Amino acid sequence: MSALVCPKCGRTEEEVEFIDAFCKDDYPVRLKLPDRMELEQCTRCARVRLQGEWMQFSDKKIAKYIISKCKGDYDSAGYDMERQAAVFVMSGSGAKVERIIPLDLKKTICQQCSRMSGGYYQAIIQLRGDPLRVLGKGTMLIKRLENRTFISKSEEKDGGLDIYVGNSKAVVEVVTTLGLKTFITKKLVGRDQGKRLYRTTFLIRL
Ligand SMILES: [Zn+2]
Ligand SMILES: [Zn+2]
Repeated sequence: MSALVCPKCGRTEEEVEFIDAFCKDDYPVRLKLPDRMELEQCTRCARVRLQGEWMQFSDKKIAKYIISKCKGDYDSAGYDMERQAAVFVMSGSGAKVERIIPLDLKKTICQQCSRMSGGYYQAIIQLRGDPLRVLGKGTMLIKRLENRTFISKSEEKDGGLDIYVGNSKAVVEVVTTLGLKTFITKKLVGRDQGKRLYRTTFLIRL
């Protein structure tokens, strides 16, 4: 009984898995793959940057992104984050072909986190009124806002609560969704390359 020998690398089928007459590494397929993938990951919030946008770290999304960079005659493909291997099911033959695509997560700090650590904020929400309601609404607002932006700090003030928020558009959205009545004041705080910079205060009486 003679074992198959790969014409390219000379290994036998006892040493490595075969597809037809070739070992699985040398099976001739048309695939154009990136040599490696480099993605930025924030060391603070662990989010990753995909196509210019920071998003929650997700194996699924990263795998999909990597596969989107792989061209060739395959019907379906998947990427295994742990082994950093892409597996392709080739068109026609249905052969399963595996290729290593190293994934390098470059550690960096996203703009949101660097602003947060610098104490940056665009808006202040001032909650005033019944202490229990202030606490309840404050907790709810912070929770909702943290899904969209960041909270620089929150502190008790004048018997109420002041919440410092990274993005004022996010405040408008959340406050509108919750149907809260607000009294809005804008203050010019400076200029950035000719653009006026405002800080918005949202006063909410509860
Ligand atoms: Zn081979
Ligand atoms: Zn971050």
